[in-house]
Amino acid sequence: MELAVTERRDVTVFYDERVLNHAPDVNAAFLPGRLDKRVRTILAGLTVQWKYPEHPGRIHAILDLLKREPVEGVRFATGKVATREQLARVHTTSFLDDLFLLRNKNAWLDVDTTAVSPGSIEAAEVAAGTAIAAVEAVVSGSTRSAFALVRPPGHHAEPVRARGFCLLNNVAVAAAHALAELDCKRVLIVDWDAHHGNGTQDIFWADPHVMFFDIHRASPFYPGSGSLQDVGAGLGEGATVNVPMPGGAGDVAYLKAFNEILVPAAEYFKPDLILVSAGFDTHWYDLAMNVSFEGFGAMTGIVQSLADRLCGGRLAFVLEGGYNTESLSHGVRSVLEVLAGGAVPEAKECGLEAVEEAKAFHLSAFTEEPSEE
Ligand SMILES: [Zn+2]
Repeated sequence: MELAVTERRDVTVFYDERVLNHAPDVNAAFLPGRLDKRVRTILAGLTVQWKYPEHPGRIHAILDLLKREPVEGVRFATGKVATREQLARVHTTSFLDDLFLLRNKNAWLDVDTTAVSPGSIEAAEVAAGTAIAAVEAVVSGSTRSAFALVRPPGHHAEPVRARGFCLLNNVAVAAAHALAELDCKRVLIVDWDAHHGNGTQDIFWADPHVMFFDIHRASPFYPGSGSLQDVGAGLGEGATVNVPMPGGAGDVAYLKAFNEILVPAAEYFKPDLILVSAGFDTHWYDLAMNVSFEGFGAMTGIVQSLADRLCGGRLAFVLEGGYNTESLSHGVRSVLEVLAGGAVPEAKECGLEAVEEAKAFHLSAFTEEPSEE
């Protein structure tokens, strides 16, 4: 019997080491003020020493794994800085002015512990610019698909505000760039991070040119937005599609949502570019949801086949959250495997494999041995 040979596809990972310079240290002296006092009070009330969870080690873990276990077909390319004009398509002038004043400083930006360190503003500009580089590459056809390996993440950043470890909304900046400069007419953004992409939703709330599909753990889980009824407004009504999920939902539910909601929505919308806000805190090691590595691969397979059918394969991923470095790195690798033409894995029902193992382990204890006569 001949095994089915899958077609190898080229994937480019866009990475710029300046994204490592965003490194808030809770013990540093932050700009004084009311917000500083409030965050200090919250942190003092914790029983464990708090560390900034969105740290450079996240990227190191991914790069280390890809070095140890390379994925055939994956190339690397460098990123770049986003210009102020590119950022101003999705953020207000006053927000950008205030943010840029924090260059080379330590400051809290939100009571949810979003902060900047001296290298953060440049890191954020590079994260957004690297998402743009990824989109330019897939639209020009210089690569089949792309993955922007960036931080700080972006999907919580609103037009007027940094939140949830996000300073600038990378995926939104990239989508707006595709519409403004790359001749794209309709961009689909798929957000599978465990948290709702409130910033991306806000930015494109009334925009009919961007469809925003977000599957996330439902409110009151952070940030609390993304109800079923949030469908956009004005000309953009219907172009925001939220799928709030109960905590602990896993592969089977996620793939059902992808196959039965995302696929028909995308077919209706007919995008000419698909972007994925890829967060890996949806994996069970990160405790909010129960998606497996196979699940990330299977979701990638669905999005990839949509891109092949609807928009000439134009597909770019932008890294969002994922705070357990083990699941983050292996999750990214699962996505790259499928983008590179590897077989799309089968989804897993969390726990079934453990039952199979336990069954094999215990079965002999209560199975009668055939008696010897
Ligand atoms: Zn998240």
